[in-house]
Amino acid sequence: MPSLEPLALPQGMRATSATRAVLGLWQADADALLSEAEVEAALRGQGVRVNRVTVYRLLDRLARAGLLRRCVDASRVARYARPAQEAAAGAAARFECADCHSAFRLGASGDAAGQPLQDALRQLWQALAASGLQGRAIDVAVTGLCSDCRGAPAQP
Ligand SMILES: [Zn+2]
Repeated sequence: MPSLEPLALPQGMRATSATRAVLGLWQADADALLSEAEVEAALRGQGVRVNRVTVYRLLDRLARAGLLRRCVDASRVARYARPAQEAAAGAAARFECADCHSAFRLGASGDAAGQPLQDALRQLWQALAASGLQGRAIDVAVTGLCSDCRGAPAQP
């Protein structure tokens, strides 16, 4: 089993059961891309009693502390992901299906397109540097049809 680095709490933040449960979601799946509603549902599923405001505040504090990264999709839904893995390339890419509105990270570990995508992002980075621009973050959002909605055959 791959070990994930434990997430340390920002200073002054209490390790309540809700906080631990929220961080636990990204410790269980480092590539998770979750909306507030999904986090709320996952916590309820674990028997953690939370309300929407608590989850919003928690996600907001974790994003401000840099533990999570907030991104807003085409339908204005905020989703949260861990920034750790994209730090290497300094870029993040995500995909949103226009049909079923499923959203996921591109280039996640285990993703077949992962390596070529990370390479492409790295090239984008180098192109920026070559043109004399100093980029700080690259945020790529792709809207399209997921393989389920396209009816594409599964990989052999
Ligand atoms: Zn779809």
